[in-house]
Amino acid sequence: MTARMRLHPEAIGMGMTSQRVRDRLIERLRDNGIADERVLNAIRTVPRHLFIDEALATRAYEDTALPIGHGQTISQPWVVAKMTEALFAEGAQPAKVLEVGTGSGYQAAILAALGLEVHTVERIGELLRTARKRFRTLGFNIRSKHDDGRIGWPENGPFDAIVVTAAAPALVDALSAQLAPGGTLVAPVGGSGAQSLLCLRKDADGVISQASLAPVVFVPLLSGLVD
Ligand code: SAH
Repeated sequence: MTARMRLHPEAIGMGMTSQRVRDRLIERLRDNGIADERVLNAIRTVPRHLFIDEALATRAYEDTALPIGHGQTISQPWVVAKMTEALFAEGAQPAKVLEVGTGSGYQAAILAALGLEVHTVERIGELLRTARKRFRTLGFNIRSKHDDGRIGWPENGPFDAIVVTAAAPALVDALSAQLAPGGTLVAPVGGSGAQSLLCLRKDADGVISQASLAPVVFVPLLSGLVD
């Protein structure tokens, strides 16, 4: 018998990360206005506890942001849900998405679980390497690069959807330029105190409209690469 088989279920993460605990998070998201069943199902399925340090695993299914090192955080599940839901609003069926700010890789995994072709960019090499390992382990086929995401990924664009998971003082023009007609971009905009989750839509003629979805708190979108 292996040591693992002798462990109590709680010790191998079957307590605080059990399906029951995950379902409780889904109910909470539903109570807080997340209605898209596809999004709720992706959050139910993707194991958030595998995107954070083991020491924090017991908190993985709380509706809260958690530290992932380098002063960065994995976003709060409600925020991930809200941003993801916005991409599918008004009957949109995006196929190709760009994420700026891979971080733990969780948001990218949610998008991949929804069947999107995911491209993600991260400026901190070590976070990206860890996220890539998670994608491999969990079988997600996600394209990623170590770069300043403010330039987007022009060679692979345009994108039907763009998700920015770090806050800038204003929308980044290079990113909206890589949005396909009919596409949606969601991004937190504002300083460290008051940020707003903006949703920008480009119609079939390229005309842009904008709405604010919610007040949010994100880490800043920074320039320069870190190993
Ligand atoms: N989507 C992530 C959230 C991570 S927090 C998740 O699901 O875990 C935001 C991330 O954006 C951090 O990892 C930070 O390093 C990264 N980031 C900040 N500025 C960036 C930039 N200019 N280009 C790419 N990534 C950036």
